[in-house]
Amino acid sequence: MNIHEYQGKEIFRSMGVAVPNGKVAFTADEAVEAAKSLDSEVYVVKAQIHAGGRGKAGGVKIAKSLDEVKAYAEELLGKVLVTHQTGPEGKEVKRLYIEEGCDIQNEYYLSFVVDRATDRVVLMGSEEGGTEIEEVAEKTPEKIFKEVIDPTTGLMPFQARRLAFNINIPKESINKAAKLMMSLYEVFIEKDCSIVEINPLVTTGDGNVLALDSKINFDDNALFKHKDVVEYRDLDEEDPKEIEASKYDLSYIALDGNIGCMVNGAGLAMATMDTIKHFGGEPANFLDVGGGATTEKVTEAFKIILGDDAVKGIFVNIFGGIMKCDVIANGVVEAAKQVELDIPLVVRLEGTNVKEGKEILQTSGLEITSADTMAEGANKIVELVKQ
Ligand code: ADP
Ligand code: MG
Repeated sequence: MNIHEYQGKEIFRSMGVAVPNGKVAFTADEAVEAAKSLDSEVYVVKAQIHAGGRGKAGGVKIAKSLDEVKAYAEELLGKVLVTHQTGPEGKEVKRLYIEEGCDIQNEYYLSFVVDRATDRVVLMGSEEGGTEIEEVAEKTPEKIFKEVIDPTTGLMPFQARRLAFNINIPKESINKAAKLMMSLYEVFIEKDCSIVEINPLVTTGDGNVLALDSKINFDDNALFKHKDVVEYRDLDEEDPKEIEASKYDLSYIALDGNIGCMVNGAGLAMATMDTIKHFGGEPANFLDVGGGATTEKVTEAFKIILGDDAVKGIFVNIFGGIMKCDVIANGVVEAAKQVELDIPLVVRLEGTNVKEGKEILQTSGLEITSADTMAEGANKIVELVKQ
């Protein structure tokens, strides 16, 4: 799960990670009120969307008066912001963060991530802050420094100081930066995060070290422990189809292609997507209906797949293990009738009661193309979608 910058900063503030003062605003008037409450002459009006790259896309504005705050707030609210992380469709700005302007001396990059190679949490830092870290990694990898953290000791103060030193934080600010890293590690562990990123971390004219941006990803499997974090969820930022799918316990991820996939089992779903690609097609989604797919679930799955206008055909690939093929076939027929399916549908069934299942499909009166193997099914749907 992701949260907004201002929510991340609330967590930071509550756990001792230094951030500038700021307030969230949902309207231009609230933005002005928020600015009034800040002890500053320069305000920063920041669009709150679940994506980075807002600065470059015009989503971060420096205002020198309350009138300017109002004007920027009016400009940004309701605007669709397209950044390199939103995709071409962009994201509508519905919230703003009004923050004290900060006298930046230098920008740095700082993050905690889980590193697969070492099986450890790693602290990463760079003096190339404010820019995309992927770009730094590609062009000047020597400017990225890492500290691998032993889970039994946690981040050690000497490691934090060493990293601060390596990324060229001025001598007089090293202790402050190290303290911030120690607190940030607490956030990462305490809140079961998978990523905590500050880009930029800044040193200021008056010798402070502050987090100027915040990006936090939480481990969904641990969310049941963190009711406070779940309250930060902003459904406006999530794909409506994915929200709908989660209501029916369907694992659905929207993708860019045009072949809708309905599969039982995550492994088979992955293999199905690979096979579609192998035959030159592009899957429109990942969808695992789970082991106990009922007619209702299958119908909902169809509706969700068809909710994506890009979908030009559907491939149902089911292995009837616990699930019997005739039950699935009934579900597919029922669902296809209910949603008045008018695009090609290829069904591949295998497993328990497969004969009965195929018969149900054949006698349904619906235009369903049957396939005996996954390869045959994938090939058929790719061909049908091309026509
Ligand atoms: P994004 O990563 O989405 O572009 P940031 O929060 O990192 O958004 O802001 C982009 C840039 O705007 C920062 O690198 C910084 O230079 C500037 N900025 C952000 N917040 C402030 C602030 N409170 N005071 C001064 N400059 C800021
Ligand atoms: Mg940033």
